[in-house]
Amino acid sequence: MAKEQRVLVIDDEKINLKIIGDMLNDDVHIIMAKSGEQGIRKAIEYQPDLILLDVVMPEMDGFETMSRLRHNVQTSAIPVIFITALNDASHEEKALLMGASDYIQKPLHTNIVQARVRLHLELVKQRKLLEELANIDPLTALANRRKYQDVIADEWQNAIHNHRCISLLVIDIDNFKQYNDCYGHATGDTVLKQVAAVLANQVADKGLVARYGGEEFVIVLPGYSQEASIEIARYCMQDVESLNLVYSHEEFSGKVTVSVGGATKVPTTKCDIDDFFNMADEMLGVAKKSGKNKILWKLPCDLPIVAK
Ligand code: GH3
Ligand code: MG
Ligand code: MG
Repeated sequence: MAKEQRVLVIDDEKINLKIIGDMLNDDVHIIMAKSGEQGIRKAIEYQPDLILLDVVMPEMDGFETMSRLRHNVQTSAIPVIFITALNDASHEEKALLMGASDYIQKPLHTNIVQARVRLHLELVKQRKLLEELANIDPLTALANRRKYQDVIADEWQNAIHNHRCISLLVIDIDNFKQYNDCYGHATGDTVLKQVAAVLANQVADKGLVARYGGEEFVIVLPGYSQEASIEIARYCMQDVESLNLVYSHEEFSGKVTVSVGGATKVPTTKCDIDDFFNMADEMLGVAKKSGKNKILWKLPCDLPIVAK
């Protein structure tokens, strides 16, 4: 068990909280709550990795507490182990049917409690790792397209709700095939990593950068106006040029640059998120056709502006 994990123990009896706390204290951070109500509050506040929940408590019992935890999106995914003195299979069945991860009967044996808690915390760790890996592009360590889809969907809704603008940049490395042809795919991969690092550095906490696929990236900038977003795009382009990744071959030579297509919108419920992406992507196409290494931005009046 790693000490960075948190376990919330909910039990109405102080002595039980102390006993369980002493059993686990060496390995995890313990948070204690002496009622279901307090437990739910602390679960929301501290987002523990695991909850140990007493069944028999006055006012709100363990089942009611469990039901409320499951119905709250902030706590619904936290695994719960019931702890009880009730020696009755129907209670155990009820707990498991409600989604409990495990059921431990009193009297508590230190080794058993530790082993079960360890097992469930390990499962939590594995699940979090899988979730992370499922959202990361392994080559560049940027968010992947799947994560981008989740983020843009959320930010689109936020923008609608708050009547705020959202900007989207679609970025593609120019003539990347030529670079690969000069130096091979493996060296090409290092370029992708360097470009990714430049974009991540420029965007920092302003929004999300993701590898959309191949040598194409997207940047989501919630709340950023057209002017502010174009400025970020310009810095991204300059930083990529400053990497000074030159290549030359018998037939061609050049330096790694990027083209950017962008769009900004204050969306309403009538707007379509795919149309928004297509607007930025269409601008990228125009940037490519008109010489590359430039930014084109979709304007509401449909006339693109050339920013570089
Ligand atoms: P354009 O300026 O029109 O974008 O030209 P381009 O050569 O960049 O575009 P094209 O679509 O012709 O070729 C994309 C190149 O990107 C070819 C492909 O091998 C390379 N590429 C895509 N994904 C990867 C990757 O993961 N690693 C490497 N090294 N190259 C990749
Ligand atoms: Mg009790
Ligand atoms: Mg390209």
